[in-house]
Amino acid sequence: MVIVVTPFQQNCSLIWDPETLRGTVIDPGGDIDRIQAAIDQYGVKVEKIVLTHGHIDHVGGAADLAAALNVPVEGPHVADKPLIERVADQAVQFGVDGVKPVDPDRWISEGEQVEIAGRMFDVLHCPGHSPGHLVFYDKELRFAISGDVLFEGSIGRTDLPGGDHATLIKSIQEKLLPLGDDVSFLPGHGQASTLGHERKNNPFLT
Ligand SMILES: [Zn+2]
Ligand SMILES: [Zn+2]
Repeated sequence: MVIVVTPFQQNCSLIWDPETLRGTVIDPGGDIDRIQAAIDQYGVKVEKIVLTHGHIDHVGGAADLAAALNVPVEGPHVADKPLIERVADQAVQFGVDGVKPVDPDRWISEGEQVEIAGRMFDVLHCPGHSPGHLVFYDKELRFAISGDVLFEGSIGRTDLPGGDHATLIKSIQEKLLPLGDDVSFLPGHGQASTLGHERKNNPFLT
């Protein structure tokens, strides 16, 4: 399920296996009381927190939630380490209070896999929105967690530190779209879509 958190309307995802209830929280940007309430409501046994990239709306609640649940934090790519270390600066910049920096237990690189709710996801390094942005892809389910790389009808902003428009377009064209038109994705903001729908309709890609 998706819990929309922070003033940035970020899609924090709570994903779990309905049989084992083993679960993962992706991008707990904030509002961790509401994330915790969802965990409790469904009885999910959260095993870890996974981060797509280092922006405050995705990582702002990670340190507190990891401490509350006593679970490790995995991701993003180490290229976002400078962003994560300066999360307090991001908080000031965006007027957000009470954000603690998170110290991930594992930086993840392309070619590795990450376990999410008991399933193995492939890892794609998709820089452009941020230098260390990761996309997680379940080949069997034809499903990707795309963070702020690609949205329904839009793409991630590239005006923040470390952002670069040409790099972002290259990540989408060379890494995401080749996964196939039938692949559905859940972005960091807004509605889910499919790669085929975006390839044909997204004004940044046509
Ligand atoms: Zn972002
Ligand atoms: Zn975001």
